[in-house]
Amino acid sequence: MSKKYDPATAVQRVEQFGEFGGVNPSITDSATYTFMHENVMIDAFAGEAEGCFLYSRHWNPSNKYLADALATMEGTESAWVTASGMAAITTAILQLCNAGDHIITSVTTYGGTFAFLKNYVKKFNIDVTFVNISDLESIKNAIKPNTKLIYTESVTNPMLQVSDIPSISKIAHKHGIKVLIDNTFTPMILSPFKLGADIVVYSMTKFINGKNDCVAGAICASEEFINDISNVNDGTAMLLGPVLDPLRSSSILKNLGTLHIRMTQHGKNALYLANRFKEIGLKFNYPGMTDHPQHELMNSMMNDGFGYSGIIAIDLETAERATPFMEMMQERGVGYHAVSLGYFKTLFSNSGRSTSSEVPVEIQAEMGLSPGLVRFSVGLDHDIEKTFDIIKSCLDELKLLK
Ligand SMILES: *Cc1c(COP(=O)(O)O)cnc(C)c1O
Repeated sequence: MSKKYDPATAVQRVEQFGEFGGVNPSITDSATYTFMHENVMIDAFAGEAEGCFLYSRHWNPSNKYLADALATMEGTESAWVTASGMAAITTAILQLCNAGDHIITSVTTYGGTFAFLKNYVKKFNIDVTFVNISDLESIKNAIKPNTKLIYTESVTNPMLQVSDIPSISKIAHKHGIKVLIDNTFTPMILSPFKLGADIVVYSMTKFINGKNDCVAGAICASEEFINDISNVNDGTAMLLGPVLDPLRSSSILKNLGTLHIRMTQHGKNALYLANRFKEIGLKFNYPGMTDHPQHELMNSMMNDGFGYSGIIAIDLETAERATPFMEMMQERGVGYHAVSLGYFKTLFSNSGRSTSSEVPVEIQAEMGLSPGLVRFSVGLDHDIEKTFDIIKSCLDELKLLK
């Protein structure tokens, strides 16, 4: 067996039972909890009553089951589940940074994250430096005495640039800086905490849930950090209140059990399409291809057996070329012209005009985000050859191949 981490087996071995021996843990559909003794309630509010639940904005047993399973998957001590991916990201950042602090971030991130760091945190006088995350020298040069955090996505949206998590963590830790990784694109495939990062965040809306029936997020970190964010006096999660509904937690937990199979199939289908795209001379980006600039880095970090994830970025150069292509693919049943990712159907959208529209056009150009970039989240298609044939027919009919 490989020496690398195996998150799938870790999740498979999680044992959580309902109170009647149900193989799925019972759902605790309650906002508040009774106490037999006043003293225990006082202790619970002081954070000193182990195993007690006091109010569901703080902790709910159903959320705890999902959080425990996610912590097991990541190899972290603890986790906390949030009402969206953005809630996970913003809660973690606001917990780590005070007014006057400095953050270094990859310039290519999810549009909402970019907007939060570019436009929102300045109200707290938090300063942000945007770097090319592959340029380790530029990260080192950006470090200031008040730098608290380096933020990046393990595989960035939508450029699919792979972050060198071990090297970034080494640089950060030398200066007492925390590393926060958004692993939304690569659950199971990469284990950022095992690679040296301090905190891992997810939009569970995407691959982890995989059903596109809700938005949700997660923060995986040390017990200390999770206790800090849920502290009743000054915890960001407790006080801003971005908690996930327990009914959702229980449904996401059931989907977590098949995540490894889904990731493997998404990756298999995406690699097939990437190879066929290469044959026909289409311009695209996929970390599974040997000519991807961080392919070797990806290989050195990834866990065995889950593939390279399901996201491919095709570059059709202009929006005028991308638009009819996406519309025709939807008409012919390739999938849906929709944002988001990690669904059983293939989803595609023009990133510059949708999920990265918060990034100003000049910065899009600077980071190499082409106005014709079509981000594909490849689905779980049983007959991916047929899917390719349809995509090819659209490209041919619209004369998009050189
Ligand atoms: C979708 C997404 C988010 C935001 O998550 P929500 O669940 O929509 O709030 C953050 N990061 C990445 C990489 C995403 O794809």
